[in-house]
Amino acid sequence: MDKVPTPAPENDLVFLGWGILGVIILSIGFMFFAPSVPSIQNIPYSQFLQEINSGKVEEVTLSNQQIVGTYRQNAVPPNQRFKTIPVPDPNLLPILQRNGVTFDGSVESTGFGSGIAWPIVILSILGLGWLFSRKSSPEKGFMSFSKSGARLSMGPGENKTTFADVAGVDEAKQELLEVVEFLRNPKKFTRLGGKVPKGILLIGPPGTGKTLIARALAGEAGVPFFSIGGSAFVEMFVGVGSARVRDLFEQAKAQAPCIIFIDELDAIGKSRGNNPMMSNDEREQTLNQLLSEMDGFNPSENVIVIAATNRPDSLDQALLRPGRFDRQVLVDRPDRQGRLAVLRLHAQKVSLGETVDFELLAAETMGFAGADLANLVNEAALLAARRDAPAVEMKDLNEALERLIAGLQKIGRVLNQQERVTVAYHEVGHAIVGSSVLGSNPLRKISIIPRGHQALGYTLQLPQEDRHLLTRTELFGQLATLLGGRAAEDLMFNGEVSTGAANDLAKVTELAEQMVTQLGMSHDLGNVCYLREGRNFLEDGTERRKTSEATAQMIDRAIRDLVDEAYDQAMANLRQNHTLLEEMAQSLLTHECLEGPNLEQFLKQIKRPSLPANLAYS
Ligand code: ADP
Ligand code: MG
Ligand code: ZN
Repeated sequence: MDKVPTPAPENDLVFLGWGILGVIILSIGFMFFAPSVPSIQNIPYSQFLQEINSGKVEEVTLSNQQIVGTYRQNAVPPNQRFKTIPVPDPNLLPILQRNGVTFDGSVESTGFGSGIAWPIVILSILGLGWLFSRKSSPEKGFMSFSKSGARLSMGPGENKTTFADVAGVDEAKQELLEVVEFLRNPKKFTRLGGKVPKGILLIGPPGTGKTLIARALAGEAGVPFFSIGGSAFVEMFVGVGSARVRDLFEQAKAQAPCIIFIDELDAIGKSRGNNPMMSNDEREQTLNQLLSEMDGFNPSENVIVIAATNRPDSLDQALLRPGRFDRQVLVDRPDRQGRLAVLRLHAQKVSLGETVDFELLAAETMGFAGADLANLVNEAALLAARRDAPAVEMKDLNEALERLIAGLQKIGRVLNQQERVTVAYHEVGHAIVGSSVLGSNPLRKISIIPRGHQALGYTLQLPQEDRHLLTRTELFGQLATLLGGRAAEDLMFNGEVSTGAANDLAKVTELAEQMVTQLGMSHDLGNVCYLREGRNFLEDGTERRKTSEATAQMIDRAIRDLVDEAYDQAMANLRQNHTLLEEMAQSLLTHECLEGPNLEQFLKQIKRPSLPANLAYS
């Protein structure tokens, strides 16, 4: 999470380097331009002599390089400054004296610019030299590769981070430990014909510890571990990125078995053609190179690529195909137990007072990611230090919590109590309707831990098998399930519904429209495919049959009827399970997440209502 930035050391160096470069350019600029800035007139020496003789010159300063002077106040441009290049002239001083010109000598008096700039320039050049020599030499066990920009760490000892520094994301840890195990002992896995994953993608919101886990993995791996940020591939110059990818994989293969870690994969992996106005050749080339490298090595080469992203939706689908990042590990915001573990972990570094109750804090921090929790402990420690307390007390933690929550609420990551209740009923509504309609998929998980910017909670239904044909009953069930959230709010809060259903309604409308206009699932419109104008008309330019105004009205009516019917169904199912709805919502509010046996025990009690009469039509 961006709240606790952990800048890579070489990033700082790069900044320093740019800074120094900037100073050099500025100082050189000064040397060239500064002396001429206050409109100094350049005049030839002969004119200089004339001006003196005509009495126009007030004073001059003489040096070996130049003569700088000022005209008198009554001269034509009054007080104008001028300069000239001296020629060997023994008569100059007598002439000056004769004309009453004040004169003065000077050592190197070219003005502000060069006087200050030269030492700066020299220092800066030395500094740059030092930086570059430093970058390319081994440093603290990390070797830098000028070409690929990857850092290589050779295993435990050099990297102090271990899995003990990661809390609350046990599944991801487990998955990655398996990888290490494989690299250490490949035969154990391949003996039975098992295939080892080539690529593992860590997916999760910012601040959940993806980078941290990878760093810990490097510490635990016992094999060479190359790590690189995705943005390091995306350079200004076309071709650099793909060369870096090639180079990285070459080095990795030479050191196999090993692990390559690409952080923030979305920097390269953004789906191609995302932005039609600007073709990003460089990114595309880099991405293609990465794809072909991943296809190019076979599993027996024992190179495993791990990548992290918090924007899986923006990734190019090609990256997710089999043989590439085919295994995806979710690194989610922790649940209450997880948050407790993270809090305890980070609190090890601060001294705690008696009053601190992490159980309570964990309960109050729903929606916080690991980084937010680390931030919380840190802020509290600062507050305690400010009041000169010997230890961090609960009031410090509470104050820090209030501040953090205010910030997180603004971006919709943390809900207030009333919102939480609403979301809980909404999600349970989906769950109950989803489990009581015909042909529904089994329910796996309900959660009110916010994820992403949109979903405040979610209900996860997994299809049991790949389905290619769906019946009208099943589609109708999907409509009702989608409406279950809104219906539950309607039922529980006496019609006072929230905006939480916006996304559901959009999906419902689209599905209902498809059923009516393309799937022939409406009585009134029959088995006709109506392509309505305005849909996808940009994509294919084919002529379509014009729908008459009357038909369009019928279509709208039919969509509306279908949705209403599905809503009634959802409502009926919820009414029948009213008590269960209450119980599940309460349980969800305490546990934030219902799954496994906990969820099973509720689902067993669901009553399935009989079908409405017109569903016999199919
Ligand atoms: P991500 O890469 O997922 O955005 P980071 O790994 O950069 O998140 O996490 C930032 C910091 O937050 C970590 O350095 C660590 O201090 C803290 N942190 C995040 N997740 C966890 C966790 N699961 N356990 C312990 N600390 C964590
Ligand atoms: Mg990260
Ligand atoms: Zn919903």
